[in-house]
Amino acid sequence: MTVSTSALESLRVLLVEWTAKNVKATSLADIEVAAVAVQRTCGQVVAETALLRAGKEETYLGSSVKCTCGGKAWFVDYRGRRVATVVGVVRVERAYYRCKACATGQLPWDREQGLDEQLWSPKVKALVAEVCAHLAYGTAVKLLERISGVRLEESSAEGIVLAVGTRLRQDEDQKTSHYESVPERATPPAERSGRLYVGLDAAKAHIDGGWHDVKVATLYEAKPDSVGRDHPSEVQYCAAQEGSDGFGRRLYAQARERGLDHYSECVVIGDGAEFIWNQASQHFPGATQVVDFWHASEHIWSLSRTLYGEGSAQGKRWAQERVRSLKEDGPKPLIRAIKRRKPANMREREELRLQLGYFTKNRARMNYPAYRARGMMIGSGPVEAGCKTVVCHRLKQSGMRWSGPGSNAVLAVRTAVLSQQFARIEQFARAA
Ligand SMILES: [Zn+2]
Repeated sequence: MTVSTSALESLRVLLVEWTAKNVKATSLADIEVAAVAVQRTCGQVVAETALLRAGKEETYLGSSVKCTCGGKAWFVDYRGRRVATVVGVVRVERAYYRCKACATGQLPWDREQGLDEQLWSPKVKALVAEVCAHLAYGTAVKLLERISGVRLEESSAEGIVLAVGTRLRQDEDQKTSHYESVPERATPPAERSGRLYVGLDAAKAHIDGGWHDVKVATLYEAKPDSVGRDHPSEVQYCAAQEGSDGFGRRLYAQARERGLDHYSECVVIGDGAEFIWNQASQHFPGATQVVDFWHASEHIWSLSRTLYGEGSAQGKRWAQERVRSLKEDGPKPLIRAIKRRKPANMREREELRLQLGYFTKNRARMNYPAYRARGMMIGSGPVEAGCKTVVCHRLKQSGMRWSGPGSNAVLAVRTAVLSQQFARIEQFARAA
């Protein structure tokens, strides 16, 4: 229920007259300051007036309501409270009920609106969570106040993120258990289409006094462009500080929710890390496994630095040619070249041995010419690059130290924001 166009038009007429009388500013900057003051006052007045009226009409639910204890709670009177909304702090009066059996007070309206004892409305909490998903708490609260007039302490913002993030996480956990108990559908091949990509990675963050692995994943489907090459769409992020098995199950549930059983192919992209392929085999057994091309290229560059020295022009040419060949011919020529290479010292010998192991172990996941011929993405795109930034940009700013619950809450909110799940954030910004 919003405001009608004609009602807004009559407000406009009133404001024109009011402005002519009351706004004396002439410079652009002064006019902007005046306009913002009016905007905030108007918003606050509208919210408070409408809420006070609703308080009388909407919050009274009869002389008694059902109490959670099973008994009856009787209407006592109207009680006032303040709510911090997106347009400022407002007062509201709502019906108060009391149950004699269990001696507890009931405020049905608060519960219905998703309010708890805290001052903030769910919309404010969602806004705070969204901004804090991008920025450090201290920066976030300052920016919020400057842009929206919403004022709160850094510790309050942290508390909101912890609450919203924890609820988002609980929702994920419920889905994880749910999809484990519901088997995948045997969708006939004719009804399947498109590819679902699952990108897996890990990053380190300082949590509970030490550096811990944070697992990160991206889920996206790919729509082919005019020449049949996949392009990512609806990228969804998932991140948690937890063990491989827990994360594998979490990711599987999210893939199921996106309709895993309706895609004709699932592609798991990762760096060479063992945990990725273990989880891929367990939860996505039919998936095509691909080593992210950017990661593979990094290994070539690392080898080139050892063999030719940092910044060497010859080394640069060698690496560029090897990267090109890996993409166009696959890993065989590269593996041959590494085997043929005579090490000049122990350091070279060790690096050659390591890289030979890496490329040999992952050779079946580096059939880049075949993947490209099928229009598949081979990584190194914005999605794989973005994988780590999910963690690093928020959790790894200088000096940042996290608690386990604190980091997981912020990761839950951040991944929801980056996945554009704004309705979901607002849903879980409501008090349970
Ligand atoms: Zn009761």
